Amino acid sequence: MRTRDGCSHTTRKGNKIVKASVTKGLGQGFVVEEVELADPVGREVRIEVRAAGLCHSDLTIATVAGQDFPVVLGHEVAGVVTAVGPEARQVKIGDHVVAGLIRACGDCANCLAARSYICLHPERTQRAADEPSRITWQGRPVALGLGGLAGFAQEALIHENQLAVIPEAMPWAPAALLGCGVITGAGAVLNSADVQAGQSVVIMGAGGVGMNAVSGARLAGAESVIVIDVEDVKLERAADFGATHVLNSRTTDPVAEVRKITGHGADHVFDCVGLRHVTRQGLEMLAKGGGLYLIGVGGLDAGIDVQTIAVLTRSQRVQGVDMGSSHLKRDIPMYASLYLQGRMNLDDLVSQQISLGEINEGYESLKDGNTLRVVVTDFS
Ligand SMILES: [Zn+2]
Ligand SMILES: [Zn+2]
Repeated sequence: MRTRDGCSHTTRKGNKIVKASVTKGLGQGFVVEEVELADPVGREVRIEVRAAGLCHSDLTIATVAGQDFPVVLGHEVAGVVTAVGPEARQVKIGDHVVAGLIRACGDCANCLAARSYICLHPERTQRAADEPSRITWQGRPVALGLGGLAGFAQEALIHENQLAVIPEAMPWAPAALLGCGVITGAGAVLNSADVQAGQSVVIMGAGGVGMNAVSGARLAGAESVIVIDVEDVKLERAADFGATHVLNSRTTDPVAEVRKITGHGADHVFDCVGLRHVTRQGLEMLAKGGGLYLIGVGGLDAGIDVQTIAVLTRSQRVQGVDMGSSHLKRDIPMYASLYLQGRMNLDDLVSQQISLGEINEGYESLKDGNTLRVVVTDFS
């Protein structure tokens, strides 16, 4: 069944016809098509998408990685609940929600220990291989992008464990960013590193995740928040998020400068770049007892050689951090509330708002160092 007017219709099976941006094959970009969205079963929830952020990892899937096609991507999603499955109990119709990449079963030992970011059974939030897929296009099952969220669409079907309820006062575009870049950057500082007031923090890489790490450091009360990048245009905006110092590592020696600013090296270094020489510098600028957190992956050979004797005698640690060690249902409403109180800058993360049909152009503009995030907010 096809529609012309942009409204969604229901098929005989009860599935709903909605517009979605479909990636049909490797490197084939994003094309708006009408797809069928299944009715929610179990604890699935259908949401009307109001904002969906463009994230580099979706573009990576669309252009390089091994991926099933066709696929609907989009994993930074905010919207309104329009239907709930018969077993859903955490959200209700009309709730404003943000979806997150963390797929948590809610019942395993890690989930019960508030470590849902390392859930042992993330697959329980998805449909099994022998069940009908959530989305079909021209009778074919459609793969779901990261987290199974498939947010580049008028409506999405998502397990309730991946949804956090936010205040209705929260605007949609910044809300969509809460589920990925915000919890990754700010969560690394507040959860993984547990930065304390008065400590020194270095953030390597002044992109979206880096700016959210800066916000986290400000919320934690860090005394110095030093941002390092190779592009002045990116460094200039860091002060708007709470940086106290910025360093261009092309024109200065970042290790020497950090030691000069802090006196004894940095208590916490967050590597959002993930290139070997950058990670090495991060380790070299650590204070005794300091921690280096690996957040970004800049290439396939990203990594670091650690000299045991050097880190042992200085009691330092190197830690991998995924999704900011976040707990969606606790952290996303907290960041929304801090934003509404004027204590967290999310507005400057949103560089541009586009329509569902402009995702290809949106990714083009993300190549510009000035653009932090592009968000789809027009789904007509
Ligand atoms: Zn993302
Ligand atoms: Zn679990």
